[in-house]
Amino acid sequence: MNVSVDLQSYNRVFVDTTALAHNFRLLSSIIPDGIKLLAMVKGDGYGHGMIESAKAFAQAGCTTFGVAELREGVLLRNAGIEGAIFVMVGFIPDQVSHYFTSRLTPVVFSAEAIELLSQTAQQRNTSIDVHLKVDCGMSRLGIQPKDVGGFVRLIESLPGVHLAGMVSHFPASDDVKSGSTGTSYNTFKNACQAVGGQVHVVNHIANSGAVLNFPETLCDMGRAGIALYGYPPSADPADAVVGDECLRPAMRFTTIVVMVKTVAAGTGISYGHTFVTERETKLAVLPVGYEDGYPRCLSNLGEVLIKGKRARILGRVCMNLCMVDISEIDDVKAGDEAVLLGSQGQETITADDIASRAGTISYELLCMLGNNNQRVYTE
Ligand SMILES: *Cc1c(COP(=O)(O)O)cnc(C)c1O
Repeated sequence: MNVSVDLQSYNRVFVDTTALAHNFRLLSSIIPDGIKLLAMVKGDGYGHGMIESAKAFAQAGCTTFGVAELREGVLLRNAGIEGAIFVMVGFIPDQVSHYFTSRLTPVVFSAEAIELLSQTAQQRNTSIDVHLKVDCGMSRLGIQPKDVGGFVRLIESLPGVHLAGMVSHFPASDDVKSGSTGTSYNTFKNACQAVGGQVHVVNHIANSGAVLNFPETLCDMGRAGIALYGYPPSADPADAVVGDECLRPAMRFTTIVVMVKTVAAGTGISYGHTFVTERETKLAVLPVGYEDGYPRCLSNLGEVLIKGKRARILGRVCMNLCMVDISEIDDVKAGDEAVLLGSQGQETITADDIASRAGTISYELLCMLGNNNQRVYTE
């Protein structure tokens, strides 16, 4: 059955596209002229919506985008995004033609992929620019630095493929004190030297942490993700200050109180009765649970905002519901707004606040909330 309904949920993620554009301009302003800033829009734009986020960044001047998988690149191109779209995580061989039809830029790390791109380019009587990924300390994707020379020769020997860039990734650039960024950067510089100077190759390794903390590693392009969505990778609010301005979180997550009740002292709350009231307690029942990306590990730990005040989660977070303590908040009734992420009145709950309580990082939290709820775009 194919039923399409367009009804609203209680739970909504608001995405402020002006904040996204502001963050792109702010980061661009600290990058020297001539160095590009690629906007990472993988993870459905870190939960903010890949296409809408890319459009907001494009309006702010962005011309280069990054996604994880080929299908995301195709979706982005079909949505009308112009400029370069980098596909970071390879491709399924029988999908290779889409690189050509959607004009995507492959990041390559295997001889098989390079050979297949070369064959396909020849069949189509065209050529394609590839960026070669080197593993400089992340131990994730990428060829070993010692193999760069061989891969460069392979690419040069094959018709239809052209080495346009060298790519790597930092494992710890969110930490200003870590020496690993310097070590990885030296490895990358040396690997890039193996390419030789005949053609101009675009070198890029700097993620948000490096753009903010290690600008000397920018090379020809920065690749920012989390900072564009308003959060510093370190989770330290002080690191959200960039020059004279601040990164602006773009996501807000709200729900509506569905029931208010008062329970007596000694009442167990939610599955397993992991919380038992010590006094008469006023509860608000919220229609939010782990199905909505709100982590169950916030049971007895999370906080929400109601009438501009903090209300603590009591007992376990269920699949679709949780209970919060509103004993100290007057006049709460069904239908009132509750804010799980973002501001209400003078109070703010950030993705880093929630993530630290949940034992995770803002990145994961934004993906979980953003990709499991209805999104509403505001300017
Ligand atoms: C996600 C990602 C980035 C962006 O990282 P942030 O820490 O969000 O800035 C850059 N490069 C690669 C390869 C990535 O996977």
